[in-house]
Amino acid sequence: MRENQKIKCVNCDNEFDNKSDTKPFCSKRCSYIDLNNWLGEKYSIHINEEDYEKDV
Ligand SMILES: [Zn+2]
Repeated sequence: MRENQKIKCVNCDNEFDNKSDTKPFCSKRCSYIDLNNWLGEKYSIHINEEDYEKDV
């Protein structure tokens, strides 16, 4: 019987297999969520509508 170490997802705290290639996340979904959070904070893109020239 093999012992699989369980580690906790840094995003949602679910336990998952240590051998998962989505480490340190339980799933790809969590890794995307975290990446989005990170990108959101670092490069928050504010679309400035006033930049568009209104040719009315
Ligand atoms: Zn997770």
